[in-house]
Amino acid sequence: MSKIALSPQHGVNPSLEQCFYCLKDRGVVLFGHLKGDQKAPRRACVSMEPCAECAGHMKRGVVLISYRVGTESDPYRTGGWVVIKDKAISKMVTKKELAEDILKRRFAMVPDDAWCALGLPGIVPARAMHCANMRCENFEEEFMIPITRSEHTANISGEASVHCVHCECILQGGPVQYIPDPGVSDARPDDCEDA
Ligand SMILES: [Zn+2]
Ligand SMILES: [Zn+2]
Repeated sequence: MSKIALSPQHGVNPSLEQCFYCLKDRGVVLFGHLKGDQKAPRRACVSMEPCAECAGHMKRGVVLISYRVGTESDPYRTGGWVVIKDKAISKMVTKKELAEDILKRRFAMVPDDAWCALGLPGIVPARAMHCANMRCENFEEEFMIPITRSEHTANISGEASVHCVHCECILQGGPVQYIPDPGVSDARPDDCEDA
């Protein structure tokens, strides 16, 4: 074991170490003295080494993780997480070099909109909606509502309007965001999925 310099304030200065891919805790990492005697973060990813479980997934396929568009420098994970067979990656990614790179790295971050366009499970488009009726108890309160197609306009992809549960007026919508699919538990698949 290598020696660490203790922090005067925080001693061995521990963090819970997370697996970069599944974000599950897998041990403790000791930072000791950090610049400016900072306190170590509560959780930290310190390597790209997968945990045993993720390493198993990567033997059988490629791990895909969804993230919010516009957060590329520090990707915000929206909750989509699947293991895809190698041959499905080659089918999905038409640029040959990119497909080869993904197959080599055994994982890829996929933006939400592409994720849904590919028909991958785990996240759904939704809108932050609010009641605009000033006299309503729910006035301006926001609800995240999954986007559903109207049964009357299914062929022209119209969205169903959502009514306020309190005053029954039609809720006003904000921009589309992606949220974890409320119809799916967050259990991760043990087997590769064919896409
Ligand atoms: Zn993991
Ligand atoms: Zn209302």
